[in-house]
Amino acid sequence: LRAAERSGLASGGAEGTCGLGAGVDDASPRSRDYPVEVGCAVLVPFGRRQAVGFVIDVFEAGLPGDETWPSSLDARKLKSIVRGLSKPYFDEEGAACAQWLANRYIAPLSSCVRLFTPPGGIPRMVHGRDGRWRLEEQKIGEVDDRWVVAGPELSTFEPRKNAVRQEAIVAAVRTGELRVSELSAQMGAISSTLRALESKGVVRIVRRRRMRGADGALGSLPGVAVSGTLAETSDGTPSASISIASTIASDGFTPSPKPVLTPGQESALAVIDRARERACGEVVVVDGVTGSGKTELYLRAIEKTLAEGRTACVLVPEISLTPQTVGRFRGRFGDLVAVMHSRMSQGERYDQWDFIKSGAARVVVGARSALFTPLSNIGLIVIDEEHEGSYKQDSAPRYDAREVARWMVERSGGVLVMGSATPSIEALYACGQGGSWTKVDLPDRANGKPLPAVEVVDMAAEFRGGSRAMFSRKLVEGLRSELSLGRKAVLLLNQRGFAKFLLCRDCGFVPACPSCDTSLTYHERGRMLVCHHCGHTEIAPAVCPECGSPYLKKFGAGTQRVEAELRALLDGMPGVGPDVPIIRMDADTTSGKGAHERLLEQFAGSDAAVLLGTQMIAKGLDFEDVTLVGVINADTQLHLPDYRAAERTFSLIEQVAGRAGRADLPGRVLVQTYEADNVAIRAAATYDRERFLRAELPKRRILLYPPFVRMANVLVWGRDEPSVRTTAERLFTELESHIRDFGGDGWSVLPASPCVLAKLRGVYRWHVVVKCPPEDDLSRVIAPLFRARAPEADVNVAVDIDPNDL
Ligand code: ADP
Ligand code: ZN
Ligand code: ZN
Repeated sequence: LRAAERSGLASGGAEGTCGLGAGVDDASPRSRDYPVEVGCAVLVPFGRRQAVGFVIDVFEAGLPGDETWPSSLDARKLKSIVRGLSKPYFDEEGAACAQWLANRYIAPLSSCVRLFTPPGGIPRMVHGRDGRWRLEEQKIGEVDDRWVVAGPELSTFEPRKNAVRQEAIVAAVRTGELRVSELSAQMGAISSTLRALESKGVVRIVRRRRMRGADGALGSLPGVAVSGTLAETSDGTPSASISIASTIASDGFTPSPKPVLTPGQESALAVIDRARERACGEVVVVDGVTGSGKTELYLRAIEKTLAEGRTACVLVPEISLTPQTVGRFRGRFGDLVAVMHSRMSQGERYDQWDFIKSGAARVVVGARSALFTPLSNIGLIVIDEEHEGSYKQDSAPRYDAREVARWMVERSGGVLVMGSATPSIEALYACGQGGSWTKVDLPDRANGKPLPAVEVVDMAAEFRGGSRAMFSRKLVEGLRSELSLGRKAVLLLNQRGFAKFLLCRDCGFVPACPSCDTSLTYHERGRMLVCHHCGHTEIAPAVCPECGSPYLKKFGAGTQRVEAELRALLDGMPGVGPDVPIIRMDADTTSGKGAHERLLEQFAGSDAAVLLGTQMIAKGLDFEDVTLVGVINADTQLHLPDYRAAERTFSLIEQVAGRAGRADLPGRVLVQTYEADNVAIRAAATYDRERFLRAELPKRRILLYPPFVRMANVLVWGRDEPSVRTTAERLFTELESHIRDFGGDGWSVLPASPCVLAKLRGVYRWHVVVKCPPEDDLSRVIAPLFRARAPEADVNVAVDIDPNDL
């Protein structure tokens, strides 16, 4: 029996400390409450105290010395499990996946197992004030609702005349079961009436588990909607009318109509069908512009998967997980849909997790972590907006949801469908190689509307022409003509590599954060300088602290400043004026719960309006009446030392262009840039992906970047710079010699160097990059080096396999 790791191990403990487990101690009376099975939490001895662990494997080994006894198991080191603490959270598949994750991403097994446990719902050891450890069974509780259900006497019961409340309740319960809370919301105090009815056997009051979030935007979980009133009739006698809007399980669900598929959708669906029939874990990349009907295609594929008795999991970028998105799946599959993402409260997530575990949910829609919910028998995984960086987790285990999904469908014989208007270079390249990857195209919008024309505006030329404004003359003219006709515009401020900062025009000094290696962002309000990594704040100096010059210039522009300039511009615009709302969407305005949705509703509900925002507006927004899209600064991220900079620029322009002209009116896109000749920008403006790839792929091949290599980024960080540096340099040497012995042709290790963000929140960061041919098993080769490392006191080391950024 292998068992049980210390549950707090994720926070830095060494993997090797996990005890090889034990036989069940039958003397413990509690172990019979929860049999020890794969997936359950168990209490185990751990040093001089006890710890919570999870069972990942159970086998019969006979006795030490038997043939079946594993040689790796030292009987003297075995300890007994104290007792089982829970029902299984995951099954053998989950345990296998956790172990695969731990190997693939060189991560602590405990951090991987944790992905499979219910949010807030697992027992843990807590360190009390008295210095003792104590077991906390479960942080999140379950919530019960009281329901009124039919009693044995209900059918024959005759309420007394004028007993209005009795009459109303009896009438209501005869139509279906009701929540006590909903009844009393309609009828006021009813507890004495209910008690009376209960004592007569007319109704019964029962407790039932409530799904938190059921009333929120995300939700219709099994429940009953009641509407009605208690009123007085004209002659003064009270009367009651109560109607039951719906009953359990269907909850007002009317399936939304299914459109007839376009020929393109039909043939794409046929490709998915064949992959499903072959059942060997194939990947289908759906390459289709926004509005080409990808979601409709997913819905059909899910429908077929469900019909075969299997389940489906749909991943959507967190930011696109809006009620509208969820609504499309609920509209087709009703209460079979569970939702899981990080903006939900822990209680809501716990309840959804349980709902999935019960087997009642057949479709899970969620962010990347939805992959680990206890959905059994997955036949289809959909990853929408496959190119999104958010499918990679940036803390341990640093998994890539696309890779995990691929592993899962290979195991289960399911299909992975990945959709995007701008598939990642890796996905496109894999499809080009054939094998288990197929690409299907949906080149046209479902409504037959053409893609909007994209125009590149050369800001350098504008500048030479004497304009110093942030809006080019073309963009101003475009805004005026569209807004004055009552239409809408979307403006994108590319925030990557772009924020306002102070610069001394005499000596070039830029105020920087004392604890991070970044320049401070200038905030108009209060003339403050703020570090966006650590929150450090100071008052902006009036003269240069280096040379005393008074010529400190503000460079760059945040969304606030763009908003202010835009406001001034619109206010003075004939036919537009101060009434046209500007809706700003950035990290500041969308931090509150539901803020994102509120802003979008405001935009949708306005006539003429401008939506101004950062990258987040490029994702999944679907507004019919946007006729103008402007990109204020297309080029800023091209300067970042990031091998994906060009790809990201290309895909951002393509994504945001897709927001224009989706309905009857033609759309127009203006892309402002100081690098009008850049191939990523040029190619995006003509929707010419081939041209972009022809320029980009050779660069990646020569400079040894994915998809031509696989990479591991070995991160080293700590507060003491010399020790961070020493560790990084030692790791480089160790990796080099290790790879000489165990690696193969085409392997390389780059010398230790500071990260692009070399200092963050007072922590120094170095890294060592390892590259190998794509077909080699990078993790397996380098893992032993890290598994065997003794932890250092003040230096942390982590491996990031297939890193998003370097
Ligand atoms: P995507 O996910 O690629 O952006 P959607 O599936 O959301 O595309 O489709 C865009 C719009 O076209 C939606 O309003 C959708 O209802 C509609 N649509 C999709 N497929 C069809 C079809 N076959 N016939 C008519 N309308 C469709
Ligand atoms: Zn200066
Ligand atoms: Zn800082």
